[in-house]
Amino acid sequence: MKTDELRESYLSFFEEKGCVRRPSDVLVPRDDPTVLFTPAGMNQFKDQFLGVGKLEFTKATTCQMCLRTGDIQNVGVTAYHHTFFEMLGNFSFGDYFKREAIHWAWEYLTSKKYLGLDPNLLSVTVYLDDDEAYNIWHDEIKLPANRISRENEHENFWPAGAPSDGPDGVCGPCSEIFYHPNGGKDNVEIWNLVFTQFNRVGDPPNNLKPLPKKNIDTGMGLERTASVLQGVRSNFEIDTLKQLCLAAGDVVGTGYGFDKPTGRPLRRISDHVRAITFSIHEGVNPGRDKESYVVRQLLRRALLEGYLLGKQEPFLYQLVPAVVDIMQTPYPEIAKTVEHVQHTIKEEEEQFLGVIEKGLTRFEGFLKKAEQEGKSEIAGEDAFDLHQTDGFLIELTEALAAKNNISVNRTEFNNLMQQHKEGSGSGAFLDSVMSEGPLTALHKTTSDTQFKGYETTVDEGTVV
Ligand code: ATP
Ligand code: MG
Ligand code: MG
Ligand code: MG
Repeated sequence: MKTDELRESYLSFFEEKGCVRRPSDVLVPRDDPTVLFTPAGMNQFKDQFLGVGKLEFTKATTCQMCLRTGDIQNVGVTAYHHTFFEMLGNFSFGDYFKREAIHWAWEYLTSKKYLGLDPNLLSVTVYLDDDEAYNIWHDEIKLPANRISRENEHENFWPAGAPSDGPDGVCGPCSEIFYHPNGGKDNVEIWNLVFTQFNRVGDPPNNLKPLPKKNIDTGMGLERTASVLQGVRSNFEIDTLKQLCLAAGDVVGTGYGFDKPTGRPLRRISDHVRAITFSIHEGVNPGRDKESYVVRQLLRRALLEGYLLGKQEPFLYQLVPAVVDIMQTPYPEIAKTVEHVQHTIKEEEEQFLGVIEKGLTRFEGFLKKAEQEGKSEIAGEDAFDLHQTDGFLIELTEALAAKNNISVNRTEFNNLMQQHKEGSGSGAFLDSVMSEGPLTALHKTTSDTQFKGYETTVDEGTVV
């Protein structure tokens, strides 16, 4: 099944169950101070979950564009993480609950009429004390006990954290569905069913109030499920993203092969260029502040991957048409801004390449200094200076050092970076966002517990 067909099949299945099909919300919400980018399908329904305002419908289904900066370190490394991805979801606002959510998910995944996955290759998790969910899986779906595990609040309570600890707001246990590919390869989480049945207010221990109307919030990874259905080893091998990786290989001039040494950098380039194309399409240009800063970092990282592969001129902008090719069926509007997006990307590429040239001169100075002092590494302080002054990502400094048979004092660099992130400036906050995701960054830099973002910190995931 092609990725475009899967999206349509999911949405029509849930329409048949009475859910109203809603379009994806924007990628960069302008009226939501709690998130920089849309992290999950539920984001556009926060008010409905809280029971704020009049409900036009009580059941919905969407395919939502999402962006999770917290997953950036996993991109191209694990088989299944992107920054930009699409999340399929079905939602209930005080309408259906656990029983239907579980039965419908199972029907959709295993029925021959829909995805027809082998039930023996699926397993699930439930929250420690969620006997209701356990019993539905075990007694009604007839899933054997050895394929249902009970996991703690880090995996199976949302927002993650002990049930009675903050943040306040709607919360509840969840149940995740995993696929186990034949041949002993690592399993992959494809779908998370969240049962938002509590409102968390005030201090523990009695701060979990059952909601009068219970909700359902589910999220299924489009690219992950497509990779399962297409029998490929990574999301980057599915029909759409493979095409983008091949285009990246052509533009950079190395060609693309999954196992080639250039595979991983080209997967990162493909991921990041998709994320920045959609952001700039929505009017968020690379810059110094908030979302713009993230876009700038994604662009620079992608440019740098190409630079290190020997492509030392603007090239990312040439990939925009390839992004449009694979994404315009669900999002035809992106075809309308191609020229503007290309122009914006190219300008930023030119500007950053100029900075790289200037930084290179300073790098050579630091190299000479290390040699004169008889050191076998570039000082962490100097690498940090290059990062702060010239925007040299540490990967670039390390790659340049390696070319000169010298290393970089990464421990010292990391310490300085850590101190910087713990500082109070907005630059510190944003660097933290890029490396750890907004939730952790916010916890570190403010005492604000109102954050209701959905994003967790970087997971280890499967290394391929
Ligand atoms: P993981 O543990 O693999 O990082 P998660 O538990 O953080 O996933 P959820 O927050 O439960 O993910 O999101 C719902 C679904 O969205 C996941 O089951 C998965 O299919 C998909 N998903 C989550 N993060 C990503 C990502 N970075 N790239 C692609 N798909 C993702
Ligand atoms: Mg998970
Ligand atoms: Mg999950
Ligand atoms: Mg995750």
